[in-house]
Amino acid sequence: MKIIFLGAPGAGKGTQAEIVSERLGIPSISTGAIIREAIKTGTEMGMKARKYTESGALVPDEVVIGIIQERLAKPDCKNGFILDGFPRTVPQAEALDAMGVKLDVVLSIEVSDSAIVERMSGRRVCECGASYHTKYNPSKDGVHCDKCGKPLTIRRDDAPEVVESRLKVYHETTEPLKEFYAAKGILKIVEGQERVEDTTALTLGALGI
Ligand code: ADP
Ligand code: ZN
Repeated sequence: MKIIFLGAPGAGKGTQAEIVSERLGIPSISTGAIIREAIKTGTEMGMKARKYTESGALVPDEVVIGIIQERLAKPDCKNGFILDGFPRTVPQAEALDAMGVKLDVVLSIEVSDSAIVERMSGRRVCECGASYHTKYNPSKDGVHCDKCGKPLTIRRDDAPEVVESRLKVYHETTEPLKEFYAAKGILKIVEGQERVEDTTALTLGALGI
């Protein structure tokens, strides 16, 4: 299966994408995670991307399209994949079409802006890619990762002013993709719930798995 998760920053795409990835045995590919890793290790792409992510702007299309093209060529994508955070613009979606990718379903997780702001303020992340929330999805001791034991941190782009500009970018630039995929007849909407497992139930239902 080839699946795209759409949704505002903090809507819970990453969390649901991980769950579906394990269930279907296909990789979940997060452009945000790939970019953060590149920034951390200081690659050329990472150094270019940093100024965009820190202000809440999108990284230029050609950079992200290059990342995805390279990643989808890896053998683990042969039986399908989940894209979390790509495409985020219409030109990115057109590039995916041009690569010959035939999508099965595009799932949009809908959450109100006010709920997003509350969620981002409680988000805690781990180097290993795991993500938690102080209130809705705390790790066992609240400060360390359940998967690898490392201390949890707050993402720089989860600062309130940055969250506001990310939401603006989402509504102006990414939300039009819902129309793009609705026109292809593959868009499904899931209302994001307060509890992760409730959203998972709706997600699995929408995917028919
Ligand atoms: P979230 O979904 O919480 O906004 P991500 O982890 O998906 O965050 O992405 C973090 C940042 O990485 C984005 O704010 C953006 O700057 C950059 N980024 C990720 N994916 C893309 C993309 N497809 N196009 C452009 N920039 C991207
Ligand atoms: Zn971890």
